[in-house]
Amino acid sequence: MPPAERQHLLGTQDSPLRQVYTGDMGGFSELPVIRKDPADLSVTPNLADYAATRADFTWETAESWLDGLPDGGFNIAYEAVDRHVTAGRGDHVALRCLDKAGAVTDVTYAHLQTETNAFANALRSLGISPGQRVFSLVGRVPALYTAVLGTLKARSVFAPLFSAFGPEPVKQRVVIGGGVAIVTTTALYRKKIAPVRDEMPTLAHVILLDDGPADDIPGAIRFEELMAGQSREFPIEPTGREEMALLHFTSGTTGTPKAAVHVHGAVVAHYATGHFALDLHPDDIYWCTADPGWVTGTSYGIISPLTHGLTMIVDEGEFDARRWYRTLAEQRVTVWYTAPTAIRMLMRAGPDVAAEYDLSSVRFVASVGEPLNPEAVVWGREVLGLTIHDNWWQTETGGIMIANYASADVFPGSMGRPMPGIIAGILQRGEEGRAAAGPDGHVVELGPGEVGELALRVGWPSMFRGYLDADDRYRKCFVDGWYRTGDLAQRDENGYYWFVGRADDVIKTAGHLIGPFEVESVLMEHPAVAEAGVIGVPDPMMGERIKAFVSLKPGTTTDPAVLRKELTAHARRRLGPAVAPREIAFSENLPKTRSGKIMRRLLRARELGLPEGDLSTLEGGDK
Ligand code: ATP
Ligand code: MG
Repeated sequence: MPPAERQHLLGTQDSPLRQVYTGDMGGFSELPVIRKDPADLSVTPNLADYAATRADFTWETAESWLDGLPDGGFNIAYEAVDRHVTAGRGDHVALRCLDKAGAVTDVTYAHLQTETNAFANALRSLGISPGQRVFSLVGRVPALYTAVLGTLKARSVFAPLFSAFGPEPVKQRVVIGGGVAIVTTTALYRKKIAPVRDEMPTLAHVILLDDGPADDIPGAIRFEELMAGQSREFPIEPTGREEMALLHFTSGTTGTPKAAVHVHGAVVAHYATGHFALDLHPDDIYWCTADPGWVTGTSYGIISPLTHGLTMIVDEGEFDARRWYRTLAEQRVTVWYTAPTAIRMLMRAGPDVAAEYDLSSVRFVASVGEPLNPEAVVWGREVLGLTIHDNWWQTETGGIMIANYASADVFPGSMGRPMPGIIAGILQRGEEGRAAAGPDGHVVELGPGEVGELALRVGWPSMFRGYLDADDRYRKCFVDGWYRTGDLAQRDENGYYWFVGRADDVIKTAGHLIGPFEVESVLMEHPAVAEAGVIGVPDPMMGERIKAFVSLKPGTTTDPAVLRKELTAHARRRLGPAVAPREIAFSENLPKTRSGKIMRRLLRARELGLPEGDLSTLEGGDK
């Protein structure tokens, strides 16, 4: 770490999470606060003064930053593509696509405009109407972007799937969404769609991106052929803000995935959150590593960056530490949006690999999806020379709600502060462990330092408008004008939010309420630990006792019995005996969703011999 940076690492707090392990067992120092001075930043941040921006902001102002359709309303694809061409930036590269072998194809905004127009015409030529659902089951290839944005232009609804899903998860989702078309490849079709095709009666069209044999595929049509005959003009019809645009399935971390409905008006929030939370500027080279099957892959892997008119890296390859560092270095990426699981994989690969690459172009790094353990933030500073800015949101919120900003101090372990335009609160929980209204019909908001359910005041543009076919479930998400997120958190005296755990995952042990994240973060401070998942196991004395599942860094040779003792001692010292795990099991990999979230419910079900529940999103599961 350069000496100048060291001076920025100041500050002290009381909570155990706010200390950092210094390398010797038992050696701790106060967790560094990463102080920021906007004057030090190479690019003037979009949000320079949090309080002032928040005070001035209205969603009407954010709307005025977009163009709107010439005939009224908002269409996501118009804001993402056409308006840049109208503004004379058609020659700017929108997508820089890297294929698996590393070959580069550039797509300009002008080209993206005509391609998406042709795709919109193509859907109409197939008889697909506004409101009908088009699915995708494909990796990050250029045609995917044409399909997503062309579908939105045609006012049909886009529903992305992970290409790694097996037949069952594909079927479940296409059936829930009533999909009429799917964009895929012949190989993916044969493996994942053919076995369940008969069970998806609405699926009439299969749009194939390659030229493999397809004579036996009902409704097959080649993307190239479909596009060839189409006009490159497509006047977007007036699109209502409340028209359904996207159908996103949640990650399935806590149970069966839900189909969240999003509307075209959400684009106002996609733009504003990219502006404030990711600090996007039109000359940025931006890279979002999320899979297109996950909401992040659409909101921040397609829509938000393109509404800013920047150049986006589209990498078809899967995670590989060297490939990723090379991409950052060679493509001169300036803004990088990734996930804790990826950062922990880079940590596993070790500092020497990072040292081989020049990351000097990167000015802003953000992470989402799971709690970002403080150790990872400290690692980012020390090994990459970069501050990793955690931010928080959900499929249901459609966009970033709580964030660490380029210009603002970062407290490692905190997910930051609410976006301008977003009112967050910590609500008192009722008997079922969720925020509940009291006899007077109102909820109680808790103050700093108190743990409760994280909630958001309803009414931001990208708020989901329903769970498809699950109205009751949707209604239950709201109480007294608040959206209940299902996550527990606390706010500190500076207004920063700290994630405690999902309401379903918190552990009640000997009268304490414990978030798994706190225990996991402490275990990950140990040099041998790569990842940890912590659950509560029923216990006659304590209610629940804490059990940790730990995966080790490669090359760890310490005897497990010794390591277990070390980890127990470390956790007891850091967390106290009541909160330290009573049991530690080593496992090569922890069960995760395809978006990289540890599935604690599955660790628990397996531990207790209970039914495993919905496994459709399990990584490495049903292929
Ligand atoms: P399901 O709702 O099906 O159980 P999921 O909640 O994992 O799945 P997503 O919408 O992809 O589906 O994930 C949102 C959740 O991810 C949040 O509610 C939160 O629990 C977690 N999360 C996201 N970002 C963060 C973060 N920065 N820190 C902590 N947790 C986060
Ligand atoms: Mg959820």
